[in-house]
Amino acid sequence: MAGRNFLFVPGPTNIPDRIVRAMAVPSEDHRSSAFPALALACINGLRPIFKTTKATPIVFPASGTGCWEAALTNCLSPGDRVLASRFGQFGHLWIDMAQRLGFEVEILEAEWGEAAPIDRYAQALAADRGHKIKAALITHNETATGVTSDVPALRAALDAAKHPALLMVDSVSALASIDFRMDDWGVDVCVSGSQKGLMMPAGLGVTCVSEKALEAGKSAKSRRAYFSYEDMAKAATTGYFPYTPSIPLLHGLREAIAMLTEEGLDAVFARHHRLAEGVRAAVFEGWKLGLCARDPKTYSDTVSAVMVPEGIDGAKIIAHAFKRYNLALGAGLARVAGKLFRIGHLGDLNEVMLLGAIAGAEMAMLDCGVRIEPGSGVAAAARRWRTLEAAATR
Ligand code: PLP
Repeated sequence: MAGRNFLFVPGPTNIPDRIVRAMAVPSEDHRSSAFPALALACINGLRPIFKTTKATPIVFPASGTGCWEAALTNCLSPGDRVLASRFGQFGHLWIDMAQRLGFEVEILEAEWGEAAPIDRYAQALAADRGHKIKAALITHNETATGVTSDVPALRAALDAAKHPALLMVDSVSALASIDFRMDDWGVDVCVSGSQKGLMMPAGLGVTCVSEKALEAGKSAKSRRAYFSYEDMAKAATTGYFPYTPSIPLLHGLREAIAMLTEEGLDAVFARHHRLAEGVRAAVFEGWKLGLCARDPKTYSDTVSAVMVPEGIDGAKIIAHAFKRYNLALGAGLARVAGKLFRIGHLGDLNEVMLLGAIAGAEMAMLDCGVRIEPGSGVAAAARRWRTLEAAATR
């Protein structure tokens, strides 16, 4: 099909040309004396992205899922209890993995569209006087439903209960696009990947581990080898990995960090918020539809899950948008399949790109029988951005 593919899934995200070019490198010797400069630029460059001076960034040749596994197997012993909430597909998958790896999961069920139930975490932690719970797991941004949860509130709940459990955070679809603070929030493990806010291809599991998590790993008895924190943490000082790293991806990561640094993390977060506000205006004011996320305080700045009207199949809209308009929208996953489509608005994008996605979604919805006013989403988003622009320049 003529024209560009419009990639608006919530990861993988668009790769800026600068990063594409940075990755176009010949192979090199990863044991050479020159190599640590690249590796250490990546690892040290990730510290401000995670907002840490104390914890250790680790880059696995993997994706977010590999980092989930690393978090569990490095810090826990077989049969250990973990506390987790399930309010979307990604929380579900981490729980499922924990169970398959032989951990006992105390599950806090919540409706899809709600945020992590911090009050119920607090109750469970306070009730656990024997400190059987070894880790509390939370999805910072549930990509399936477009909901952002309150990670610092979970830290506060742990502190209030004087509970020593490790705090493990999945920030796969939030890191480098929504504020995340490893040190301030007392996070022990942050799990992320290269293909979302970091604007890279998938292929790097980007994670960060606290001193407490590394310490827990010394006595934790779960088996691990390829995903060993201990082996990888050495790379943070020597700049040499325990196995062959993907050198092009490391070049890309160094460039991604440079781009984020140039824009400034606060500006990156503000841009994501502004763009998300435009999408929300399109959904509510333009199309008169709703989001899967229930509480406006929890609306995600990286992904919006748009509910389609009764009797309309969201999957058909997504298939049609792709086939007819070359626009990739995110699917409704598992329990919400067919009920919604998702617009990913994270990574390397601006208002005009997003207007393309809003216009495409609008045309695909109209073609599939959704009764909306043509141009209404585009107009509502543009109006919202005009208002924000005017407020910013006053
Ligand atoms: N967690 C969240 C919140 C995600 O959005 C994803 C992927 O989209 C994952 C975990 C899994 O990460 P990956 O696909 O990089 O393995």
